[in-house]
Formats: sequence, structure tokens, C-alpha cells
Amino acid sequence: MHLVIAIDGPAASGKSSVARALAYSFGFAYINTGAMYRAATWQVLRRGVDPLDEAAVAAAMEASQIVTGLNGLKESTITLDGDDPTPFLRDEAINHHVSNVSTVPRVRELLVARQRAYAERDDIVMEGRDIGSAVFPQTPYKFYVDASPEVRAQRRAAQGEGDSIAQRDRIDSTRRASPLMIAEDAQVIDSSRLTIEGVVGEIIGRLKLKRFPLPPLARLTRE
Ligand code: C5P
Repeated sequence: MHLVIAIDGPAASGKSSVARALAYSFGFAYINTGAMYRAATWQVLRRGVDPLDEAAVAAAMEASQIVTGLNGLKESTITLDGDDPTPFLRDEAINHHVSNVSTVPRVRELLVARQRAYAERDDIVMEGRDIGSAVFPQTPYKFYVDASPEVRAQRRAAQGEGDSIAQRDRIDSTRRASPLMIAEDAQVIDSSRLTIEGVVGEIIGRLKLKRFPLPPLARLTRE
């Protein structure tokens, strides 16, 4: 088992940028689990399955060949039946249906198995909703990045997306299977008034306090 830094939080909290920057500065792999649930949603929709039909969604994913890996930048990749859904992952239809597909326990089982497999081969920074609470509850390095609803809505609008984050957050927080929550031992960071670098610096500071074995390069650039 390699080192795992878990970063959870609601939509548009800034966690993706923070997790990617942290992984970069440590030379760890960056694993975006939201992209995996988005990819599953893309697969369900292109197979003509009703995203609200739990049994049909589970069957469609069972029947799919899911291949996960890393690209040259050590960022997670996923293909379904040999096709790369990356260009479509932020489409309106995916934003709209992803939270429903993510409630299906079988979908989560299939993807969580792949998420855990990453830590068998690499040190990782993994971001999502349930990483500290359900995927890697045993890691001591877990953070919950939050921001006020106003700031999050502004950030998403600045990305040019008409994404209904309030609706996604509601479904994500109230579902039965590993809902979005603050793990008991997670460190909460409010990113509302911080830059990405500010949040990364805050996380590195807290990792040091936890005696996290900082990689030499990160130590050089941060001290
Ligand atoms: O992180 P992102 O906003 O791209 O995630 C899209 C959706 O995927 C979330 O709204 C949630 O429904 C689902 N998700 C999840 N568990 C994770 C990561 C994402 O259920 N670990």
C-alpha cells in the first residue's frame, strides 16, 4: 500500500485544482474519481439506458469493459469498451445525470475497486466525495475542501458551465451508498478566500504536522 492523500468536498469547491497541484508538486499520481463517475454516466447514456433505472444502470456497467490507468502526466485515465469519454465528461447531460448514476451501489463497487487498485502501484492524491470516508478510510492524510455556496456558484459560472451544483450536492449528500460527508478524522479547509496555492500551502503545512514523509522536491520548494 502506497501513500494516499484523500481530498473530498462538494462540487466547485476547488478540490480538483488543489489535488492536481498537490500531486504535481509531490510527483504523486493524480486520481480524479469524479471523472470515473462521469465516464460511467456517459456509458449509460450512450447505451440508451435510463439513468434512473438502477437495475439497468448496474447491468450496463457490469457488461462494460472498464479500463483505468495513468497518462504521461500521471493523471488518471478511463476507457469504456475501448473508447475514451474525456471530451464529453463536462457535457450538460452528464452534469445533469451523474449524481443519479452515482447513487447505484453496483456502479460504486465497480469503480471503487479500480480506485483502490491505484494505491497498489503508486503514491496518489485522490479526489472525490467519499475517498476519506469509504475508499481509503485508513489513510491518516485526509482533507475536506469546502467553500461558501456563493463562491462555488461563481467558480462554476466562471468555468462557463450552467451546472446545477446545488442539486448535485443535495443528491450526493443524501444518497444511501457512501454519501458526501466530512470523515470524522478529516481536516476541513475553507477555500472561499484562498487561492489554489494558498490551499495547497495549507495542506502541506498540515501534512508536515502529521509527520507526512514529504518528497525531497516538495521539501526543497516549500521551505
Ligand atoms: O468531482 P465531480 O464534480 O466531477 O463529480 C461528479 C459527480 O460524481 C458528483 O456530483 C458525484 O455524484 C459523483 N462522485 C461520487 N463519488 C466520488 C466522486 C464523484 O459519487 N468519489
